[in-house]
Amino acid sequence: MYRDCYAAWMASQSPSATAAVVDGRAPRMRHAISTTEDSVAARVGMVGAGQLARMSLAPATALGIDLHLLAEADSDSAAQIARRVTIGDHRRPDDLLAFAKGVDVVTFDHELVAPEHLEALAAEGHVLRPAPASKRFAQDKRHQRERLGALGLPLPAFATVAAATEVEHFAEANGWPVVVKAARGGYDGRGVWVMDSSAEVAARWPECTAAGALLVEAFVTIERELAVLVARRPGGQAAVYLITETVQADGICHELLVPARVTPGRAAEATELGLRIAEIVDVAGVMAVELFETTDGLVINELACRPHNSGHWTIEGAATSQFANHLRAVLDWPLGSTALMADAAVTVNVLGPPDGVDPRDRLPAALALDGVSVHLYGKAARPGRKLGHVTVLGDDLADALSRARHAAALLTGEATS
Ligand code: ADP
Repeated sequence: MYRDCYAAWMASQSPSATAAVVDGRAPRMRHAISTTEDSVAARVGMVGAGQLARMSLAPATALGIDLHLLAEADSDSAAQIARRVTIGDHRRPDDLLAFAKGVDVVTFDHELVAPEHLEALAAEGHVLRPAPASKRFAQDKRHQRERLGALGLPLPAFATVAAATEVEHFAEANGWPVVVKAARGGYDGRGVWVMDSSAEVAARWPECTAAGALLVEAFVTIERELAVLVARRPGGQAAVYLITETVQADGICHELLVPARVTPGRAAEATELGLRIAEIVDVAGVMAVELFETTDGLVINELACRPHNSGHWTIEGAATSQFANHLRAVLDWPLGSTALMADAAVTVNVLGPPDGVDPRDRLPAALALDGVSVHLYGKAARPGRKLGHVTVLGDDLADALSRARHAAALLTGEATS
C-alpha cells in the first residue's frame, strides 16, 4: 500500500505540485538525498520540527520510515539533521495541504495547528493521527475539562471565565488561591497564573486576556505529579508505560523518575485512568496524561496527544521508546514492549544556564561520567530554555537520580567536577 502511495507521490512531485505559492511565497522543500522507492517502508509527515521530531528521527531510520518534517526554519531542532524537510508555516492551510500531499499519514510534534486547518486536511482525505477530534482534547483545556468532567472523571473544580469578576466569584465558592489558565497554547507554565487575591486578579487580568479564552480552576495541593504514557493504534490496541513521576518547578518539568514512588494500588489506578482517557480521546499515537496525586486520590491535570517530555526516559529506559511506539501507532503497526530495561530510570532536563553558555561546550565533562546518556536538542542556548536531557538507568532510583543530576549540573556549569 505504501509503495503504491509512494509511486503516486513521486508522480505528483513536479515543481508546480510541490510549491503552492501563497502571497508570493512557496513552502520550500529540502531533500538532501533522493530516496528510491524500494528503500521506503512508509512516509510519515510530522508537523513541527522541535526536539520531539528530532528524537523521532532515530527510530524512523531504524524502521525504514521516511520521516518528513514541516519546519518553520532550517534552524529548528529537527530540521538541522533531517533529510526531508519542508520549510513552511503550520498556520497556513496551503502549506499544510502541500505537505500532507507528500506523505501517507500526518502526525504532530506540537499542539499548535488550528482545529479548522486539521479539519480541512481531514476533509481533503488526508490521514491524520491523531485525528482532529482527538487533538482537540489536548489543544483546548476547556473542551478537555468539559468532556472529561461530563464523564465523571476526577478533575479540579473549574469554570470557564471571561471577566475578572467571574474569577472572584469562583474564588468565593472554592477558596483562594485559584489557577487561571489559557485554554489554548500554554506550555511550560506559560498561560498558567496562580492568583492569591482579587487585587492580583485585577492587576494580572490584562496579561491573562491577552492569551485568549480562559478557564479558572481550584488550586490543588499536590503530593506528587505523575504522567501516564499510552501508545494506541487506530483500532484501539494500546500499550502503557510504567507510571512516571515528574518533578516540576515554576511550571517546567525538571525530572522524571521511573518507577514513580507511589503505592502499587495508586500506580494501577493511574494506569487504568490513562487507558480509559486514551479510549475516550480515541487517540492514535502516543498520548501523555498528566496527573496530580493528592491526599484524596488522583486528579487529571492535562493531556498531550503526541510524544511528551514525561516520556524521554523511554529512549534508553524502555524496550521500545515513546518515539518508536508513536511511529508504529500512527502507521497502525504492532506496538513494541514498554518494559522497563532496569530497576530504575531517571531523566533530568538540561535547561539553559544563567550564564548563557551552550551545554554543548560542556559535553565532554558529562560524557566522562559512566552510564549517562546525553541528548542535546541543538537549540540556541537561552537561560531557562529546555536544551536537552540526560538519562541514567540503575538498580536504585536515588542513585540514578543523583548521577543524572550531577551530569545535568556539569552540562549547565552548576558543577565543575
Ligand atoms: P502547561 O500547559 O504549561 O504544562 P499545566 O496546566 O500543566 O501547564 O501547569 C503547569 C504546572 O502548574 C503543573 O505541572 C503544576 O505544577 C502547576 N499547576 C497547574 N494547575 C494547577 C492547579 N490547579 N493547582 C496547583 N498547581 C497547578
